[in-house]
Amino acid sequence: MNLLILAAHADDEVLGCGGAIARWVREGHRVHVLFFTDGVGSRGRNSAAAKARRQAARAAAKILGFSIAGFGTFPDNQLDRVPLLRLAQTVERVKRKVRPDAVYTHFWGDLNIDHRRVFEAALTAFRPQPGETCRTLRAFEVASATEWGGPATAYRPNAYIELTEGDVEHAVRAYRAYVHEVRADPHSRSVEAFLARRVVRGRECGVAWAEGFMVCRELAPL
Ligand SMILES: [Zn+2]
Repeated sequence: MNLLILAAHADDEVLGCGGAIARWVREGHRVHVLFFTDGVGSRGRNSAAAKARRQAARAAAKILGFSIAGFGTFPDNQLDRVPLLRLAQTVERVKRKVRPDAVYTHFWGDLNIDHRRVFEAALTAFRPQPGETCRTLRAFEVASATEWGGPATAYRPNAYIELTEGDVEHAVRAYRAYVHEVRADPHSRSVEAFLARRVVRGRECGVAWAEGFMVCRELAPL
């Protein structure tokens, strides 16, 4: 299977589904990640911070075994100023190369505007037209964005992916590659919170470790 992950910023892929990526790769699937912005705002694409972020993404890719489908050059925290058509066309270019069976992207209720725009671009690029081969569109949660969204769009997982302890270890190593993004506990982006979230999501479906997702649309096999 080919999986495509649409992440606004480098680190969202690990925060959202780092453990699932480890599992997918371990099971022989191909995972591609497309990033949209450099995640460092006005400091600029060629700033040391932007380069460090791309380097961290490459390190995370190596640890988890995913391939990077592209680093977008859209402005950080300003995707609401980019026409949706341009974002969707960026997705469609990658879609033609990857031909994903499943797509994972941001939750529609996230506080972060870039996350919401990437979700809209995913919806647009993967409209279920006849002949569409992508059968699954799911949203992942990102600490400090999903739980900070408004109460009208609360995140309530309705699909879980069970993880082994090894998958979680891989995910934590990949998260630690983003040295400038990891926060000290009790911030929701601490390593402790990263682990706790996977413990809680696991308990929600009676297993030790899991990541929880929200199904946006799925053509289920059963
Ligand atoms: Zn983000």
